[in-house]
Amino acid sequence: MTMTENRPSTDVRCWRCDQRLFSQTSRERGTCRPCFQVLTDMTAQISLDYSPKQLVKAAHALATGRVEYFGDTPDRRAYARILSSNYTVTYVTTLTGCSCPSPVRCYHSAALRIADLAPVR
Ligand SMILES: [Zn+2]
Ligand SMILES: [Zn+2]
Repeated sequence: MTMTENRPSTDVRCWRCDQRLFSQTSRERGTCRPCFQVLTDMTAQISLDYSPKQLVKAAHALATGRVEYFGDTPDRRAYARILSSNYTVTYVTTLTGCSCPSPVRCYHSAALRIADLAPVR
């Protein structure tokens, strides 16, 4: 029995290097193996600021392509639109804040911080 996830597509790609993922483990992680190591290192760097659950959600948001950067500035990675996990609401997130109603530090900004620490070539 598996929960059906409301994914926009079954084509799962690595959040960081965009290669297609085939193994079940990689697909669940949302990263290829080398990038998973990077992701692990980067999440460790911000792990004091977020709960383990939030870090997993942040990685998942990146993995499922729910993080969309906008703006043309050199630090464009500091601003993004992040689609909520049920694909219904878009939040505007910065490295330090977010438009979502979460009263505490949310995983959206965690996703942005992880991506900021692990730039894509
Ligand atoms: Zn990768
Ligand atoms: Zn948020």
